[in-house]
Parts: sequence; C-alpha cells; structure tokens
Amino acid sequence: MSACAVYGDFVMSYMDNIRQITPYVPGEQPKVTGDLIKLNTNENPYPPSPKVRAAIEALPVEEMRLYPDTTAAPLVNALAAYHGLDPSQIFVGVGSDDVLANCFLTYFAGKKPVLFPDITYSFYDVWAELYRIPYETVPVGDDFRIRQEDYLRENGGIVIANPNAPTSIGEPLSFIEKIVAGNPDSVVIVDEAYVDFGGETAIPLLKKYKNLVITRTFSKSRSFAGMRIGYAMADGKLIEALNNVKFSINSYTMNCAAIAYGVATVEDEPYFREMIAKITETREKTAETLTSLGFTCLPSQTNFLFVTHDRVPAEEIFTYLKTENIYVRFFRKPRIDNYLRITIGTGEQMERLGSVLSQYLQTRQ
Ligand code: PMP
Repeated sequence: MSACAVYGDFVMSYMDNIRQITPYVPGEQPKVTGDLIKLNTNENPYPPSPKVRAAIEALPVEEMRLYPDTTAAPLVNALAAYHGLDPSQIFVGVGSDDVLANCFLTYFAGKKPVLFPDITYSFYDVWAELYRIPYETVPVGDDFRIRQEDYLRENGGIVIANPNAPTSIGEPLSFIEKIVAGNPDSVVIVDEAYVDFGGETAIPLLKKYKNLVITRTFSKSRSFAGMRIGYAMADGKLIEALNNVKFSINSYTMNCAAIAYGVATVEDEPYFREMIAKITETREKTAETLTSLGFTCLPSQTNFLFVTHDRVPAEEIFTYLKTENIYVRFFRKPRIDNYLRITIGTGEQMERLGSVLSQYLQTRQ
C-alpha cells in the first residue's frame, strides 16, 4: 500500500493523521561515574530517608502479581495527614509532570487563553500545545520577577511556579493570594516543586479558595526523582474532576513500590528537615563563592542557583565545565541565554565547582 493517496488536488498521507508535537527536552542524564558532578536536573545529592530501605524489605513480592490500589490510598492518606488536609483533597501521580499534565487536561478546557510567565518551567507550553489549549506567555520583568498585575485580566486559567524555575525566585503568600482571589472564574495552578527549600506555600489559601490547585513533587526535597511521585492539593470537587480524567486514561498510575516507599519518606520528617537544612546552607555558601568570582546570583528559594557572569558568556562556562565532568544547565532561549542554572549538590561538590570556576576564570582575565 502506498503512504500517499491523491484526492483531486490534495495529496493525503498517513502523516496528516498523526499528532505532531515538539516535545519537552529534559536535562541530560549522563551515566554517573566516580568523578562526575551532576548539577543539571535539580536532583537531590543525598539519598532518600533510611526508612525507605525498611519499606523495600517489607514489600511482599507477592504484591507485584496484583494490580496496585487505583486510589493509592496509603500515600494519599499519609500526605493528607502530613498537610492537615482531607484525603479527598489529594491526588497523586507519576511525578508532578504527570500530575500537571492531567491538571492541564482537566482544568483548561475553555476557550480563553491560559496564562503563564514567558520564563518558567518549559513543560507548560508543551502540554498546552499537546492538548490544544489556547495560551499566552506573559513576560516577567527585567528583574525576572513575575508581575502580579499581568494576571488580573480575562483568562482561561493560570499557572505560576512558586518559587519559579529556572529563575529560583519565590514570591510571598500575599502575592499568590491576590492572583487566586482576582480570578474566581478560572483555576489557578501553583507549582510548588521547589517550595520546601525556602518558599512560602499557598496551602493556607486552600481553606478560602475553591479555584486553587497546588502541585508538589518528591523528586527534589525528598530525593525521589527515580521513584516518580508527585501530587496535587485542592478542593475536593477539583480533585474529583482530576481523578475522572485520570481514570479515563490509566487507572493504575502509581505502582505498589512507589506507594509504599512514598509513605516511608513522608513519615521521616526529621531526616527531611536535616537534608533541607544542609542544602540551603550549601546554597548560601555557593552563592557567596560565585559572587566573589564575578557571578550575579538571583535570590534563590530553591535547590538551585540561576547565575550570570559579568564577563564570560554562560555557554562558554557550560561547555568548559562539561570538560571537567561538571554538568550544569544552559538554556539556549531568548532572555536567559547568558544564564546558567546550577543545582546545589553536596558541600564537597560545590567546593570543587568553585575551584574549577576560579581557575578557569583566571585564564579568562
Ligand atoms: N515543576 C517544575 C517547576 C520543575 O522544575 C519540575 C522538574 N523538572 C517539575 C515540575 C516536575 O518534576 P517531577 O515530574 O520530577 O515531579
């Protein structure tokens, strides 16, 4: 059979029936060998809670024969207890990418454009394109801050990452409240992937506003990127709508191991706090070092720094660091193509980054 058919003046091909999309491109995942320092995808440099090991040993292999709990109830209940919410207010998914994709599909079914910043998580426009959701990107200010007033106009929904990525800047609760309160007719998604590293959460607003959805991930602050767990918190009605969409695609998103190990990490609050403290302390030290080397670091409330050098182009530094086996993230994109996003690793890794940069920059006087 031929791939093309001619109808009058039209040439049709099977390609005309295929959905075509430019996909999101995640950071590189090089093989982690002895001296590789991976600071390019905002992973946590520390292992997950030691309680996970016990959970691994406790999981009966027999359980893998059966389909998992479609509601992931143990994990939903653990998260509800942790945040002081009702289980009906929690939705879990395969990383927050899965949760956010379902949110876009569920909450943005109108005709008006969904609004999000021009500089933000670069998956948002991919989902909008994939689901054919009308959207507009709203420029952040020259200081890379989101301008609240730009979100107080007609729209079909709003997405704000707070703290924002890759800028690392967090906004206070009052800022988010004004946007949520000013848009009672649309759903406002607040992506809190990085909030545990010093941001202010919008959770207190859930009591007051029915149009707010907050998403979170286990990938950063809980050292669980490989397990793929994310969740959403919202009013029960919004969570029900989200579940209806999920159950129309795949009932069994959360596997039995992710459910059990996820519960174990939520139950280890002291370890979680200890890790966050280590990372935020290392972040402040790294910012001081980089500043002394001629970098400007935006004020970070995340586990990464967004930096630019006063003399040397970001792409050059990015390329050089790779030759030293240090991976950071460079975005070849308008407005941010002279910036690097550097994940906070262990104290030791960041010291090595500092000394490699210091030596290199001396050769570039
Ligand atoms: N939101 C933001 C702002 C992120 O940076 C990321 C990480 N790439 C995610 C969501 C998705 O994280 P995950 O799917 O690992 O939960």
